[in-house]
Amino acid sequence: MSIASNLKHIRATLPKEVTLVAVSKTKPVSSLMEAYQAGQRIFGENKVQEMVEKHDTMPKDIEWHMIGHLQRNKVKYMAEFVHLIHGVDSLKLLKEINKQAQKHDRIIECLLQIKIASEDSKFGMSANDAETLLNSDELKSLQHICITGLMGMATFTDDTIQIQNEFKFLKQTFDELKPLETANINLKHLSMGMSGDYKLAISQGSTMIRVGSSIFGERNY
Ligand SMILES: *Cc1c(COP(=O)(O)O)cnc(C)c1O
Repeated sequence: MSIASNLKHIRATLPKEVTLVAVSKTKPVSSLMEAYQAGQRIFGENKVQEMVEKHDTMPKDIEWHMIGHLQRNKVKYMAEFVHLIHGVDSLKLLKEINKQAQKHDRIIECLLQIKIASEDSKFGMSANDAETLLNSDELKSLQHICITGLMGMATFTDDTIQIQNEFKFLKQTFDELKPLETANINLKHLSMGMSGDYKLAISQGSTMIRVGSSIFGERNY
């Protein structure tokens, strides 16, 4: 199957309120351009340097999403263009994003990553910590970021019930936090679901899915 037909197939199954982020990490620009030519404009990368290089060479109407765990010292390289940062899990990181966004006179959208998986390896904050952060006075002073939603990754398992429960929990957290609207909080995106579980994620209320291998094929690390 070609990238274009994979995309077409996936898009055909998506409700119109669900945004598709094409996760292109490790893939060459030629593959991304195939997706671009098939109409895809939102790409997700998990390494800053790789995203910067692709941004430099590709058309400028692309929205670049950072989906990976982000180190604070890398924020400056993408602050000029990154559209949405999915994996934010601390106030410290938010402060750095705010500082770098200010230099470019931008407001950078961020999603708080909530830990929903049972594995230790997945990053993210607890729902309680997210609530505390969203209510903090320190957050209010960050005028160059906007928290526009939540993101989560389910456990890597065949147990569909477990995955479903994890997504359910994230959606519930999203619904609970949604009323907290301020100048820099506007929770509209719920980023959950990847190639293996995006249908389940959508059935549980996802509004943004991050799909890589089902579009571009398996990755060889
Ligand atoms: C790689 C990655 C994806 C996409 O994974 P696929 O299984 O290839 O669809 C989604 N989200 C995050 C955070 C990733 O790192």
